[in-house]
Amino acid sequence: MVTTSRPLWENHSPAHICPFDQACSYLEWAGKELKLDPGLLEILSHPRKVVTVSIPVKMDNGEVRVLAGHRVQHSDILGPYKGGIRYHPAVTLREVSALAMLMTWKCALLGIPYGGAKGGIPIDPKQYSVSELERISRRYISELIKDIGPSVDIPAPDMGTSAREMAWMMDTYSVNVGHAVPGVVTGKPLSVGGSLGREMATGRGVMIIVREALADQGKSLADVKIAIQGFGNVGGAAAELLYQAGAKIIAVSSGAGGVYAETGLDIPALKAYAAQNRRSVVGFPQAIPISNADLLILPCDVLIPAALENQITEENVHQIQAQMIAEAANGPVTLEANRVLEASGVTVLPDILANAGGVVVSYLEWVQGLSYLFWDEERVNREMEHLMVNAYRHVIQQAQTRRVNLRLAAYTLGVGRVAQALTDRGLYP
Ligand code: NAD
Repeated sequence: MVTTSRPLWENHSPAHICPFDQACSYLEWAGKELKLDPGLLEILSHPRKVVTVSIPVKMDNGEVRVLAGHRVQHSDILGPYKGGIRYHPAVTLREVSALAMLMTWKCALLGIPYGGAKGGIPIDPKQYSVSELERISRRYISELIKDIGPSVDIPAPDMGTSAREMAWMMDTYSVNVGHAVPGVVTGKPLSVGGSLGREMATGRGVMIIVREALADQGKSLADVKIAIQGFGNVGGAAAELLYQAGAKIIAVSSGAGGVYAETGLDIPALKAYAAQNRRSVVGFPQAIPISNADLLILPCDVLIPAALENQITEENVHQIQAQMIAEAANGPVTLEANRVLEASGVTVLPDILANAGGVVVSYLEWVQGLSYLFWDEERVNREMEHLMVNAYRHVIQQAQTRRVNLRLAAYTLGVGRVAQALTDRGLYP
């Protein structure tokens, strides 16, 4: 048991489950399995740097608002900090801190030379105009200018942000330092040094991990019915690629609700519908309406939560009918729910593996940018597939060797690699 004081960590999380405490529980769990030195665990349970900035923004009507912007840098033991920037009303410092820690283990698990970070602004981007969002994004990044950079900390998109925000952030950083610095963010538009394949990367990674896990059970994607919560960057891409691979996507949801079709949804038609309806699937004519809560407990083979944390908890876990859950979102299954699922034989593909496709292609984008050499999409997808399948195989092997579930196997690999590097580097001074 690690005893730790976290003076900065007052719980401002609206959820009853504190995401940072949950992230620390995972770390302690892995540390116990690895028999890590308590001092080492103590270091890893604290982020290296926590920054909160004020973002004064002039609204289109002339009113001035001041928003909070967070950036948490958990660890740079293995390389520059890396992690997305989230715009969502539920963003808290504790949530961002938890996600930063998760990024550290994810990069280590995938074998890419990054540490973990995360950023966020507690806003609903749908309530702001494009020009207001541009001013918010530019001021946020200019406040963080000394804390980021291509060899320091490299942001990327997350919930509520996309290539558009990355282009504004890259431009703001570049104008401030006096020359173009494409490597300061990833997930950029192609026109400013983005990578082919980045847009679909997280969803593609989810598809690859589900495909591999099904293959280990003697099944193929064409054999299964899938329900997906969330139809954004990740859920939308996963739905499209799984549909193309022959899977039957029976339900999909967005924030205001979902749609269900027992015989399978026409995903290209749903995508076109959502594009016309502010990314919402509600009202799609060729399907039955379904709530987000009911989607999670549908009878299906594979459930893919691709929206928010803490969606499968002690409250609904006993109603889950899927035999496989792929955590496309970060932290959608709580530790307690994971234990119940494990006991009933449900395969849970953990987030740090299942949704790592995005950071893998971010890494490939960064490598291409630094070498001024750009690859075709086929090469990007091939390199990504190699890293994802490799990580999946390592997790399976670790689970078998240590006789642990896939989450603990993934965490012990990620945490173990960072702990080893920290031991080898030593503690300064
Ligand atoms: P996004 O904003 O593009 O999409 C989120 C989706 O979730 C939308 O369809 C939205 O309508 C839906 N949603 C919002 N609130 C909901 C609610 N209460 N119930 C059900 N659905 C709701 O975000 P994204 O980039 O797709 O990220 C989704 C998750 O995946 C997040 O947990 C994020 O951290 C994680 N993730 C994203 C990436 C990436 O590359 N974008 C990479 C790794 C992990």
